[in-house]
Amino acid sequence: MKSVEQTIINISKGNPGCMQFCFELFEKGGYEALLMLAETGLTGSRAYQLWNDCCSRDVEKAIKVLRYRREDRITEKELKEHVYQPWGKPFDLEEIKKREAVKPEGGFLKERYGMVLIRKTPEGTCPMCAVKHDPAQPHNLQSLTYQYKFYDEHGRWPTWEDAMEHCTKEVQQFWIQSLKERGVEIDE
Ligand SMILES: [Zn+2]
Repeated sequence: MKSVEQTIINISKGNPGCMQFCFELFEKGGYEALLMLAETGLTGSRAYQLWNDCCSRDVEKAIKVLRYRREDRITEKELKEHVYQPWGKPFDLEEIKKREAVKPEGGFLKERYGMVLIRKTPEGTCPMCAVKHDPAQPHNLQSLTYQYKFYDEHGRWPTWEDAMEHCTKEVQQFWIQSLKERGVEIDE
């Protein structure tokens, strides 16, 4: 907990609006989301503007912007052009989503943690999550292999949305419904 508080203090620089943003960010996106904000270098009133002006105080939107920044779909220059304004400019997330993520050579794990991933999975299992499942079904989000492989490719941890991205609409609907029954809400 100490490092969370410290990170929030470092980012907020005494700006109460920014502090509120950080708390909400932590609540919705966990420590990783806070780190993503720290990585942008935006602090105090600028970080607050990112949330308040560019994202209309929608934390989910802000997390998306931070993810796209981490994947380099949003460049540093672009981020600054949106935030460093008297009033921050909103992002066109639909358009940005279509851009390619820029993957560093050797993958994100190597770049960030110096880890190299062993790419082989046991025979007869899914090459992505190392679990035996029908390829038409989602990957197993709980599989560590899946989490690391995904991280290596995208520079962030996977969500249920990612795990079922390759599935048909029908299969997705089925999973969204069954996850909902277990208390997991997913954007459609
Ligand atoms: Zn799988």
